Amino acid sequence: MTRAQVIVVGAGPAGSSTAWHLARLGIDVLVLDRARFPRDKPCAEYLSPEASRLLDAMGALAACEAAGAAQLAGMVVRAPNGTLLRGDFAAAHGFRGFRDRGLALRRSVLDALLLERARAAGARVGEEQRVTGLVRDARGAVTGIETLDASGHTAERQAAIIVGADGLRSVVARRLGLSRARRRPKRVAMIAHYHGVAGMGAYGEMHVERDGYAGFADVGSGVTNVAVVAPATRVKRAAMAPAAFFDAWLAAHPHLGARLAGAQRVDAVRATGPFAHHARRAWARGAALVGDAADFFDPFTGEGIYAALRGGEMLAPHIVAALDARSPRDADAALAAYDAERRRTFAGKWRVERLVALAVAVPALMNRAAATLGQRKDMADLFVGVAGDFVPPSEILSVRYLLRLLAT
Ligand SMILES: Cc1cc2nc3c(=O)[nH]c(=O)nc-3n(C[C@H](O)[C@H](O)[C@H](O)COP(=O)(O)OP(=O)(O)OC[C@H]3O[C@@H](n4cnc5c(N)ncnc54)[C@H](O)[C@@H]3O)c2cc1C
Repeated sequence: MTRAQVIVVGAGPAGSSTAWHLARLGIDVLVLDRARFPRDKPCAEYLSPEASRLLDAMGALAACEAAGAAQLAGMVVRAPNGTLLRGDFAAAHGFRGFRDRGLALRRSVLDALLLERARAAGARVGEEQRVTGLVRDARGAVTGIETLDASGHTAERQAAIIVGADGLRSVVARRLGLSRARRRPKRVAMIAHYHGVAGMGAYGEMHVERDGYAGFADVGSGVTNVAVVAPATRVKRAAMAPAAFFDAWLAAHPHLGARLAGAQRVDAVRATGPFAHHARRAWARGAALVGDAADFFDPFTGEGIYAALRGGEMLAPHIVAALDARSPRDADAALAAYDAERRRTFAGKWRVERLVALAVAVPALMNRAAATLGQRKDMADLFVGVAGDFVPPSEILSVRYLLRLLAT
């Protein structure tokens, strides 16, 4: 049986960030992942300007740039009726991100780099270790995990605190009985990488259509990430393999299909979803949840990696307080304080995500908003700054902004 003060389940951005921060605070932390790194992860692979602050703190920013991350100046959104809006990260609204650019980098590269940073900080890492269950004491407190390794060996490992950073279908969240699937939006995503996509520039692109949306982003080294997100019911009704659906969807939107005509797909189409879920709360006695394991809504505003990194940064000091606590009740209070901080920190962004999801689902609304934002660059810049995690969400949740947005 292996012991650690803290075991982190999952070595994505949330797990590596949590482990890095804990190791730097002197905690003996063990990170386990079912995969062997580098591993891929279906994602549009855009990193907000403010994510660079967290990467820099972890000593990973220079390595991401050296690995060829693309630099994005902002976002372009195309509404279903063809209206275009563009927002820049560097703008005159008075807010500045850590950088004036977003980054985009293959997850196979980014996640391996982040795990390496956690290892360098002192975290122990176990790859090809699938966590299959939780161990609890007689009172129900989590005291460890059960693992299954690549050669079929099972083991039990104990820790004072278990962190579920195991993504969308978190075993930890499910075993704790905390995970709730959301009924809406129920969307699935298909993603592939291409060489030679026509018309790529320095902006991430979101194309909203009546039957879903697509993201195009340069992820460096001449590679473009193409992601299609469609309602799960539509994908099911089409009764096609994900790759066939992906091709058919892009072909049905000639302004996108034409840009792929001379391009080569460099990997298989990967599918994921439905993804909207949230945890009732992000802790239980002896355990905490972070990143997608705690909540994920929709990829449109592309801040999951930022939230995962920020979540780890936020969680680590609360774990230290829980480890230092004199009683189980005090330890509970420390983890509950983490949950409260998460809600306070992310509440505004969650509201923005819900409004965006509504607009994506109602084409007339998206067309209206795009018509305004296409003409009001100042408002578009604010919106893109919120998506970039450096403009407070309250700037675009104000009645004034929303009324202007929908004014005819
Ligand atoms: C279609 C799509 C596009 C997206 N695009 C963007 C984007 O452009 N920008 C952005 O910021 N975010 C984007 N996101 C969101 C982003 O991918 C996630 O928010 C982010 O990966 C969350 O990080 P995480 O560490 O919580 O989870 P993950 O990155 O999913 O990592 C979880 C880790 O846990 C491991 N694991 C899972 N189960 C177990 C187990 N039982 N035992 C051991 N290990 C386990 C997995 O192998 C994995 O390594 C997108 C999401 C989707 C679905």
